[in-house]
Amino acid sequence: MFLMDLLIRRCSRGVQPELEAVARAEQMEPERLARGIARGRIVVPANPAREHPLCAIGSGCTVKINVNVGTSGSRCDPALEEEKARAALANGADALMDLSTGGDLVAIRRKMLALDTTVGTVPVYEAVRRAGNARDVTPDLLFTVIREHCRQGVDFLTLHCGVNMQALSALRADPRKMGVVSRGGSFHCAMMMQRGEENPLYAEYDYLLEILAEYDVTVSLGDGMRPGCLQDAGKLAKSVEYVTLGTLAKRAQEAGVQRMIEGPGHMPLDQVGYNVRMIKEITDHAPLYLLGPIVTDIAPGYDHVVAAIGGATACLNGADFLCMVSPSEHLALPDVADIIEGTRVAKIAAHVGDTVRKHDGWKMDREVQMAEARHTLDWDEQFRLALYGDHAKKIHERDGETETCSMCGDLCAVKMVNELFGTGEKKGKGK
Ligand code: SF4
Repeated sequence: MFLMDLLIRRCSRGVQPELEAVARAEQMEPERLARGIARGRIVVPANPAREHPLCAIGSGCTVKINVNVGTSGSRCDPALEEEKARAALANGADALMDLSTGGDLVAIRRKMLALDTTVGTVPVYEAVRRAGNARDVTPDLLFTVIREHCRQGVDFLTLHCGVNMQALSALRADPRKMGVVSRGGSFHCAMMMQRGEENPLYAEYDYLLEILAEYDVTVSLGDGMRPGCLQDAGKLAKSVEYVTLGTLAKRAQEAGVQRMIEGPGHMPLDQVGYNVRMIKEITDHAPLYLLGPIVTDIAPGYDHVVAAIGGATACLNGADFLCMVSPSEHLALPDVADIIEGTRVAKIAAHVGDTVRKHDGWKMDREVQMAEARHTLDWDEQFRLALYGDHAKKIHERDGETETCSMCGDLCAVKMVNELFGTGEKKGKGK
């Protein structure tokens, strides 16, 4: 018997007061938001142990972005990670994930949870640190760490429940060039192979759901078998995992546990659309959380751009939540500048998604206003409307042009056509 009156259950009874601000932010009727949560088409990860502005992810909502921060074994500076987290939030991140694997993990998590936002973690990382290596993680240790993260106030947990014996068999039957590139996925493979036993998160999924329900924590069903290069995209293991995640998503929904799905890794651009649509179908349209997709493997240093191309394409087809990819992806732990650049580019990809998927097209207002400001050469208005106006202003002003820009200078087409047609009056200036 669950003690917690779960958000899904409360929403099935009607609008909940804490969701009214979220509904306003989404320009959505509160009843519609409540219905979406009750049906599992929208999640609002919100551990009742903490208070922070809530973030709705899923059908009819704007696309949200998450930014990963966290120490590693080779670079452990908790103050720097906190600075990166603050920089991400200042530049538009809707959620943070603390992926720390170096230093005092509980203390670092406490710092992240003190920030005023939705926070996620991957508990298996800490379990591996405590055990010393992945092979020695026991089911008891893993469930203990999961419970501790819930108790500490984490809003959503990435748990690789779909990395099971069947997925492992598929990996052996249809080998991939990059094997397993998900850190959590590789840990679970090591645990299963060492013990010769099923992944405890899969074998004891009902028990896991009881823990999550006890704290009303959202599960993000991890894509431990995501392909790690374009050639691996069509291999079997990923598809086997998706089907498993479909059944696990259904069981979570029935248990009143909010869930979202992760996927789908590296893949050619023309596979992104049908992969997203397939995952949505298999999982009864659960909110979909993506890293990338990475649509080319030969642009290290620019993987934030690569991920934005894949991410915008995924949003066009129904993806709901993008994980920021920084310029240092595949190369190093990101620094503050990487986090700012990656967050801004991910936010642009999310906005591009919104322009084609938001239910009533309201995100187009700002696009229309920008066209008007460009038409009237109203630079202040352009900087106000721009997603990152500070950056735009700096570029515009570097050549000292004010009326037009230095691209065409005195041959500005906009100015000339306005003079020819008598158009281009700035709003409110009159004739
Ligand atoms: S100078 Fe050229 S690029 Fe700049 S606003 Fe005018 S037409 Fe556009």
